[in-house]
Amino acid sequence: MSTARSLHDLSFPELEEELAQSGVKKVHARLLWRALHYEASRFRENLDGFPPPLARWLNQYLGDGRAFFLDQPEQVAESRSSDGLTRKYLLRLRDGRTIETVLMGYDRRFTACVSTQVGCAMGCVFCATGQMGFTRHLRPGEIIAQVLHVQRILRAEYGKNLRNLVLMGMGEPLHNYDAVMKALSTIADVRGPSLAQDRITISTVGLVPAILRLAEEKSPYNLAISLHGATEEQRRSLIPISKKWPIESLIDACRTYEQALGKRIFIEWTLIAGKNDSPEVAGQLASLLQGINVHINLIPLNPTDAYEGTASAHQAGLVFQRILRGAGYPVTFRQRRGIDVAAGCGQLRSTKTTVP
Ligand code: SF4
Repeated sequence: MSTARSLHDLSFPELEEELAQSGVKKVHARLLWRALHYEASRFRENLDGFPPPLARWLNQYLGDGRAFFLDQPEQVAESRSSDGLTRKYLLRLRDGRTIETVLMGYDRRFTACVSTQVGCAMGCVFCATGQMGFTRHLRPGEIIAQVLHVQRILRAEYGKNLRNLVLMGMGEPLHNYDAVMKALSTIADVRGPSLAQDRITISTVGLVPAILRLAEEKSPYNLAISLHGATEEQRRSLIPISKKWPIESLIDACRTYEQALGKRIFIEWTLIAGKNDSPEVAGQLASLLQGINVHINLIPLNPTDAYEGTASAHQAGLVFQRILRGAGYPVTFRQRRGIDVAAGCGQLRSTKTTVP
């Protein structure tokens, strides 16, 4: 089995250390780091421009059959929504597995939605990724590589940088906690991709111990909880994994998080006709969240093959929103994007939807 490692998996101190072990001055680590995370598209061209000790190190250690490789997934397909605002990339990883990354543009501001696992173990009934089952976690480098991929496209086509990042693609980010945190510290590093920490959002279905860990570690990122049910029974019918962490413990963890970090939590609520969109449920949700600083996002259900539920009627959604607003909560309808190319929330499945 190959023991080769990805240079993109390394933190900056780890990269410094690797170079130092081979006698390359630590000062060169900064150059290499920038090339890896900022100018990754021109990495090979830059090789000649590197100081000789660094170029020699790369020639010796980087490449097939050597100690290190780069995470540069191959783009297998691109699908564009009919309004041109959403693009979905199917990327092939080194082991042949594929993942999806979505790029959304709003007023020339761009948000990427990246995957953190191949498949997902949480099994949410309305989600195409959950319907696939779990294959494996992504490494930090594989998460970072998705950001670099869309950054390259944005710079080439618009001369722009990515503005927001959401971890709402394939997988449950907090199930892959360490890799996600390591990737995010690189993505937010000012010497690298340099995304502002408060423009990064981690989304979870509610892994209570991991939420408490975020609070303890003073996570600088935003947190979104996919709640979808206001009672134990309702939540379990949509999110099987929630049996492990009852709704009360999830709400307690949200309180702890909010008190520890003083940050508003985003509550994601998929509106499913006849399932969780009644005025009664809106009232239950309002009581459940009482005293917590939240912003509620309502998302009409996006269709997937294996779930027969349908999106709530517009009027039902408006009533739901009005009740929550009446109870004092900020509530917005999340714009539905990329539904025609299966790039909406819960639709990612790593299949080709169009020919490249
Ligand atoms: S909604 Fe998120 S956590 Fe649930 S199955 Fe889909 S990817 Fe996994």
